[in-house]
Amino acid sequence: MDKVKQFSYRFRSNMARFMYGRCGFDDMARFLNLVAIILLVINMFLNNRIIYIMFLLTYGYTLFRVFSKNIAKRYSENQKFLQLMKRPKSMSKLIQMQWRDRKTSRYYVCKECRQHIRVPKGKGRIEITCPNCKNKFIKTT
Ligand SMILES: [Zn+2]
Repeated sequence: MDKVKQFSYRFRSNMARFMYGRCGFDDMARFLNLVAIILLVINMFLNNRIIYIMFLLTYGYTLFRVFSKNIAKRYSENQKFLQLMKRPKSMSKLIQMQWRDRKTSRYYVCKECRQHIRVPKGKGRIEITCPNCKNKFIKTT
């Protein structure tokens, strides 16, 4: 084995040993990492001290999560984070579908169960029944 391969092998096994029992990159850390990069890029243009401090805090907290040994606590935080992201995620999916089918259909969200309901466009005032919870509401399509 040549020197470079040997080094990279040793580096990887040391890294694996170091990361053993640590939290690693979970969804929340990945998201925070992305936010930190965005802040850094914004700061390249604005050179603003407050944005830089926000970057340091976000990045610092990301590293803290990744290297944390309190996996149970980080896991429950990550679950809360995923719960929090559910609504914005479902909203952005709805907007995408709305745009894709903008000529043929309209989408509504059931107020009872948050189910997305697609109805054909141009039918006038109609009563819509939610297929999930049978909640009824009237919309103009
Ligand atoms: Zn419903």
